[in-house]
Amino acid sequence: MVAPSSAPLYDVLIVGAGHAGAQAAVSLRQVGFAGTIALVGDEPDPPYERPPLSKDYLSGEKSFERILIRPATFWAERGIDLLLGRRVVSVDPARHAVATADGVAIGYRLLVWAAGGRPRRLTCSGHSAAGVHSVRDRADVDRMAAELDRVSRVVVIGGGYIGLEAAAVLTKLGKAVTVLEALDRVLARVAGEPLSYFFEQRHRDHGVDVRLGAQVACIEERDGAACGVRLAGGELIPCEMVIVGIGIEPAVAPLLDAGAAGGNGVLVDAFCRTSLPDIYAIGDCAAHANAFAAGATIRLESVQNATDQAGTVARFVHGEEKPYVAVPWFWSNQYDLKLQTVGLSTGHDQTVLRGDPDRSSFSLIYLRAGAVIALDCVNATRDYVQGRALVQSGAVVDPALLGDPAVPLKALAPAA
Ligand SMILES: Cc1cc2nc3c(=O)[nH]c(=O)nc-3n(C[C@H](O)[C@H](O)[C@H](O)COP(=O)(O)OP(=O)(O)OC[C@H]3O[C@@H](n4cnc5c(N)ncnc54)[C@H](O)[C@@H]3O)c2cc1C
Repeated sequence: MVAPSSAPLYDVLIVGAGHAGAQAAVSLRQVGFAGTIALVGDEPDPPYERPPLSKDYLSGEKSFERILIRPATFWAERGIDLLLGRRVVSVDPARHAVATADGVAIGYRLLVWAAGGRPRRLTCSGHSAAGVHSVRDRADVDRMAAELDRVSRVVVIGGGYIGLEAAAVLTKLGKAVTVLEALDRVLARVAGEPLSYFFEQRHRDHGVDVRLGAQVACIEERDGAACGVRLAGGELIPCEMVIVGIGIEPAVAPLLDAGAAGGNGVLVDAFCRTSLPDIYAIGDCAAHANAFAAGATIRLESVQNATDQAGTVARFVHGEEKPYVAVPWFWSNQYDLKLQTVGLSTGHDQTVLRGDPDRSSFSLIYLRAGAVIALDCVNATRDYVQGRALVQSGAVVDPALLGDPAVPLKALAPAA
């Protein structure tokens, strides 16, 4: 770690040493940027991949070393200073400087804000009892893993991707898992009904008790530790561990306090510039107009978005004005199911099922006004790969052809 006194001013200072921040530093070096770069991160570890936290890092199949974004020696070799264990608490756009919680000021010529988000917490009583966990960083998962030996029953609050992935891993580890979802289906925010019902059923098949429309009243404690989740109707679901997967809040307070435009995330333009001079924002915390959401201003929480926005900033800093226009993609692994998503399904008015859910290999294709806007592909990598061109071009395709697995999707793309 570099002492701040020896590095008071950086050409590019990146706040947040996660996916987006790390990739911004990597991309800057890749495009030939020769100035000084520092990555300030409040976690103690060098940048690592977050997706395995709810998948094979939680299951113990991957070690921490295997989820590092680059080998630990990479950063120094590329002249990138890692300032770890440091939280930035304020930004002074006029002085071009940030301040850390330990009272250190660090100057910048360009600031890239890549601070991601903080897990949304429950507010009911018992929310901070021992045994109640989020799944956002390595420390969260290490804490969970250390408790697992004495846990036989787990309640997962939230039926989104992270909650369902954790449920799948813990079921495989032999725990009795209950998933509580407040809405009337799992994955309701991100997927169409057929996909929700498919995943719900698969979890039930593996013995998960999936409760829909479930309202949590509180977490019951015994000697300071969670011993159950009480539902609004009065029922108590006993457990030794609670996992809360109810989304994140973008980590943008210091930027908004400094006057940046935004709210749910900090607003950026097509080059990831915020409204403050020389300050960019990328990744989970950046609210941007997305061409694949019909131009709506959204935040995307995905490795794709973090990586591609990082590339946009690096190129822009290097003088290449190429706006951020990237087809969104995402994946989720649960049991033997590999879900791959391309495009954004929000706002669809029609879905087409392609393949057979009963054989665990199918795609759900989303259309808006006849145009293909997204695909959710379950164990159907070919559809995922070939469907990208349909999403990219916004192709209007006969739904009957889309639904016929005998017709390859690449035959339906405009160039074909
Ligand atoms: C469990 C889990 C599973 C996921 N699975 C998938 C998946 O399968 N596919 C997919 O595409 N995406 C997945 N994601 C989402 C993906 O990991 C995120 O979209 C991506 O990490 C976003 O990168 P980021 O750099 O914006 O934020 P992060 O990776 O969260 O990095 C932000 C970093 O900034 C630090 N920080 C915050 N505030 C400050 C501050 N004030 N000062 C200093 N440092 C600060 C944070 O501690 C963190 O280290 C998953 C996420 C999680 C948590």
